[in-house]
Amino acid sequence: MREVKGYWQNYIDGAWVDGGAGRIDVINPGTGEKIAEQALADARDVDLAVQAAKRVHSTGVLTDMRPVERGRIVQAMGRYLLEHLEEIAALLSLEQGKPIWEARIEVTGAARYFEYYGNQAETLEGRSIPLGAGYFDFTTDEPYGVSAQIIPWNFPVEMTARSLSAALTTGNTVVVKPPEMTPLSNAWFAHAAEAVGLPKGAVNLVCGYGHQAGAALSAHPDINQVVFTGSVATGIAIASAAAKNVVPCVLELGGKSAAIVHSDADLVAMETDIRKGIFINAGQVCSAMSRIIVHESRHDELVQRAVSIAESLSVGPGADRQTFGANMGPMVSVKQRDRAAGLVSEAVSQGAKLVTGGRAMNIPGAFLQPTVLAEVTPEMTIAQTEVFGPVLSVLRFREDAEAIEIANGTDYGLVGGVFTRDLDRATQVARKIRAGQVFVNEWFAGGVETPFGGYGKSGYGREKGREALWNYVQTKNIAIKLKRT
Ligand code: NAP
Ligand code: MG
Repeated sequence: MREVKGYWQNYIDGAWVDGGAGRIDVINPGTGEKIAEQALADARDVDLAVQAAKRVHSTGVLTDMRPVERGRIVQAMGRYLLEHLEEIAALLSLEQGKPIWEARIEVTGAARYFEYYGNQAETLEGRSIPLGAGYFDFTTDEPYGVSAQIIPWNFPVEMTARSLSAALTTGNTVVVKPPEMTPLSNAWFAHAAEAVGLPKGAVNLVCGYGHQAGAALSAHPDINQVVFTGSVATGIAIASAAAKNVVPCVLELGGKSAAIVHSDADLVAMETDIRKGIFINAGQVCSAMSRIIVHESRHDELVQRAVSIAESLSVGPGADRQTFGANMGPMVSVKQRDRAAGLVSEAVSQGAKLVTGGRAMNIPGAFLQPTVLAEVTPEMTIAQTEVFGPVLSVLRFREDAEAIEIANGTDYGLVGGVFTRDLDRATQVARKIRAGQVFVNEWFAGGVETPFGGYGKSGYGREKGREALWNYVQTKNIAIKLKRT
């Protein structure tokens, strides 16, 4: 890729600006080397961004537009990302660590959100409610106003695209806080906003620390809606701040999602699901297949297959991994890697069996060996805590009811899976899994079109699908008293 410029600013009201909180080094987790510096916003910068977004919203420039026009603008942003696919993917791989081929999938996925939501702008329609001959009554869906979006570092491009596209489609203006570990690729959303002719201030990027910029943004009295993806603890902090201003939130807070594997499952086909489910993005996926609950009759075979997948992966810098294949990049940071390795050690001390991997790799960068733990039991820390790394925990069951109890036995409830050839059983189990999305015989089945979000401490509100649009609008009812003629 081309030389990466040394210093990256924030984007407020259509201008690139320094940050009041200084700068941070952005590190390539594949080498440990510094890539660039990123400006860090303070509360004043956040306030300027919110004021800009509020001003644009109040002009009505987005809300007065015929929806099809707004939709075309949103779709054009997606096309702009695709036109710059290789550049964005290379930058994303460099700052986040993921293999280039995974980064390409992420950028393509990001563009897809703009296509999907832009396409729906003109499908949002109200209804007319009969009140008798003396009235005419109708509802409209109006945007909240300023949407505040706090983005995680695991899929920085796709996560920003997910909330930004839906917010703009519905006529909101937006202040994004990109993650300070992986902020650079988010600059492309500013370029896209300019390229498609959005007014200055409609889209703002204020990268900063969570406790500074993130906290200032979520507590700002002039934001009207908050979208957050990240940990439960931070989600609670953000929802509490929003509650003080009586502002609604969408929270997507991770999981400890389980695949239930029945005795009749096709384990050969499932190898692909294991590889995607827990080793893509080095396991830093909120909907990762972090637990497998397997019938005892297939336990040993499944563990052996999982181990051979883990051991087949070539692990190294994302930039050297251009094409789809059995490979994996680093984790996002040494801190996240050491946290995951610590959870593996704790699991072993609690009685889990380390079948493969588990150790930090002795090369520069934030690498953890692809890891499989067997003999995990439901009360162990590893069975309850989100690792957010390439670590699979295998548990066993005898009766179907026991599998469901184990699957549902965490605070989380983001996704779940069932692997069986028996569709009656799959359907019954799917009904009983306490999660917002259930995959049958393919992990991550679905797409931008299918609603996604958590039960329990995995959060509330839905992203993706038509359902996500309802997070960005509020209903207004207009009742007209008619004169008798
Ligand atoms: P985190 O603390 O929840 O951070 C996520 C985002 O929120 C970051 O941009 C963060 O900024 C910001 N933030 C932190 N404190 C804030 C506050 N008080 N107000 C507003 N924003 C705030 O997650 P993390 O520290 O990056 O990762 C820790 C764990 O969270 C991971 O190991 C994983 O288990 C989970 N996680 C889940 C997802 C997911 O997709 N569900 C994504 C990321 C992380 P800073 O980076 O400056 O803190
Ligand atoms: Mg953090």
